[in-house]
Amino acid sequence: MRLDDEQESSNFEVQRGGGGGFGGGGNMLGLLLPLIGSRFGCGGIVVLLVVLMVMGVNPLSLIGGGQIAPTQQGAPSSHDASQLNQVQHWSLKVLGSTERTWGKIFQQEGKQYEPTTLVFYSQNGISGCGAAQSAMGPFYCPQDKKVYLDTSFYDELRQRFGAPGDFAQAYVIAHEVGHHVQDLLGTLGDVNRRQQSVSEAQGNALQVRIELQADCYAGVWAKQTGLLEAGDIEEGLKAANAIGDDTLQKSAGQVPVPDSFTHGSSAERMKWLRQGLDTGDPAQCDTFNTRDLG
Ligand SMILES: [Zn+2]
Repeated sequence: MRLDDEQESSNFEVQRGGGGGFGGGGNMLGLLLPLIGSRFGCGGIVVLLVVLMVMGVNPLSLIGGGQIAPTQQGAPSSHDASQLNQVQHWSLKVLGSTERTWGKIFQQEGKQYEPTTLVFYSQNGISGCGAAQSAMGPFYCPQDKKVYLDTSFYDELRQRFGAPGDFAQAYVIAHEVGHHVQDLLGTLGDVNRRQQSVSEAQGNALQVRIELQADCYAGVWAKQTGLLEAGDIEEGLKAANAIGDDTLQKSAGQVPVPDSFTHGSSAERMKWLRQGLDTGDPAQCDTFNTRDLG
């Protein structure tokens, strides 16, 4: 992809530390604070601090020793983009590109696109949907409307799944942004409600349609950017093929996460990515009213 001239998105956060897991008290508090903050509001944090003080722990010492700063905002004024590594900068070019593409598409429909935030973490992070772990792969959390990415997944994509190349990586981000688009359009909420009143198998079948639509949206983005180069589509299809459920299920150590339930077969993923790539039209991504997914 010719992404060099793309402007980087400023909608990002960096969660530092976490490499050592739930180690010292400071680290633990760093994890607890945002969790409690998100679940119970600031009052929850106050309660935690009071509990710690009653226990004889000086919370300030823990905060000082905390290794995680999960709530840094992506606004340029409160965030130092110079801390980012090359892969993260590159990812933000992809994100910036999705913002412009979806902004335009939403505008054409008389709607406004609210960008998602890309959260970079390493090994262990925290999301509005619970713990984030590298083993989960990238995911979108509807609770906080953020995309979580440990960029080491790109290495995995290359080495374990044999899907190298910049478009393969960009497709991963664009797929998660696709979930955000579904969230904004209300599709995600509608389907999640339907899933609660059907069997597990039916729920999984609905999940497949969610995932394939996100693949199609990723293709729509790629087509509309006009930045594709020779070989990109093959790269993307190779990635779609590699991370289909039937391929993925061979891998061990699965952790149940929002985005990992059921993604469809490799053939289905390739078909819907291709559908988006060919048409560039999100209206052609209606996986919910299609009998033949594959
Ligand atoms: Zn997904």
